[in-house]
Amino acid sequence: SPHFKNIRQMLKERLPSEVYELLRKVGEVATEKGINAYVIGGFVRDLIIGRKNLDVDIVVEGDATELARAFAKKIMGKVHIFDKFKTATVTLSDGFKIDFASARTEIYRAPGALPEVDTAPLKKDLFRRDFTINTLAVKLNGREFGKLIDFFNGLKDIKEKKIRVLHALSFVEDPTRILRALRFAVRYRFNIGKHTEKLLKIAVRKNLFRTVEGKRVYLELKHIFEEDNPLRIVNRMEEYGILKAFSPRFIWNRKKRDFFERIRKIVNWHKLTFNKHKANYSILYFAAFLESLPADEVDRLLKDFSVPDDEANLIKNLIYRGRQLAVKLERESFSNSELYEILKREKEEMVLYVAARTTKEDLKHRLLEYLKEWRDLKLVITGNDLKEMGLKPGPLFKKILTELKHRVLDGKVDNEYDALEEEVKKILKKKKLEPV
Ligand code: ATP
Repeated sequence: SPHFKNIRQMLKERLPSEVYELLRKVGEVATEKGINAYVIGGFVRDLIIGRKNLDVDIVVEGDATELARAFAKKIMGKVHIFDKFKTATVTLSDGFKIDFASARTEIYRAPGALPEVDTAPLKKDLFRRDFTINTLAVKLNGREFGKLIDFFNGLKDIKEKKIRVLHALSFVEDPTRILRALRFAVRYRFNIGKHTEKLLKIAVRKNLFRTVEGKRVYLELKHIFEEDNPLRIVNRMEEYGILKAFSPRFIWNRKKRDFFERIRKIVNWHKLTFNKHKANYSILYFAAFLESLPADEVDRLLKDFSVPDDEANLIKNLIYRGRQLAVKLERESFSNSELYEILKREKEEMVLYVAARTTKEDLKHRLLEYLKEWRDLKLVITGNDLKEMGLKPGPLFKKILTELKHRVLDGKVDNEYDALEEEVKKILKKKKLEPV
């Protein structure tokens, strides 16, 4: 029988009060409708562990779309129904989202069979999940609000820091869970349970990845590369022989590990420096991951993983053009303005990749400086100043401003206005023109 415990107090203390109130409201509406509603999965896991997670997944014993509609009405949110799966998303006016899904219910019932206990659909739904730590549910209905429902000892496994599957065929049913196990183990610093580890090793040995749609493997790899420390996860993949299952030619050595570590530092720097415009960080790791493979093998994997064309092209660009660019920048020495001209049409990811790829500290430093300072350098002088000097707007404007920018980048300008005058004089002399 499931282990019950009330964690209402924990919800109240650990959640932002708006989120707590929303859960209360879901519970109220559910009770009015006579439907059982639960918040489940990663949200509950992370609440107990104490990690921020506001992905609210509600599972309903009954029609989730009905509850979602009524809830949206109550809070004046928008509801989006996915009829095919009987799921719905409610979006609040501030953009906050809550997902609703219907627990899988039994369709066939033997005539005269005992009525099922009211948690049976929920239990069946939770039994399909990957690990015990993801099977916790919290009931939201009225007086029972906060009741923790734990059919599979998830709470104990969180306390013991263990990743455990729910049954022996779990990895056979879905081999992508192998990658998920390693990801969660590293993220939470949990161990993989002994029996679970045995099953995982068997699944790898049987090369069960072949049986999965490549796209799903790719999505899990992307999740890995979105984690804070992908290096430690890939190390574990190597230990279990998973890399060789992807490609026998896979190499995971000191050089690769150092590359990953440098990407991590650059990514952290980038996140701190620019909180506005984000880059596609996972793609940097993915390119580094594939880099040492022969080109035909890179192509095969991108195809097997059904990587969309635009992403595949970016990955290949990072690998091959990134390599050329790194070699070129390491070999010759460029002035700031030359570097600016080389980089200005490159994607953010390319500059980050080259900065991570190089072991030359001083080049890395200049590349990051390019992103932080030079790229968006605004001159004090604008086209208006040129007009005031009596110049007619045209291609010459751009030329003068670019030249000026180069000189500023190269540290050759004390005062932009003086520099402008010099520049204009020079150009006019060359063109043998007189100001209007
Ligand atoms: P994260 O914090 O990385 O978002 P999450 O647990 O919320 O972790 P999701 O990938 O969003 O991860 O999955 C949501 C829920 O769906 C999980 O809690 C898990 O129980 C379940 N789930 C996801 N993928 C699988 C799978 N391959 N097999 C079984 N259950 C899965």
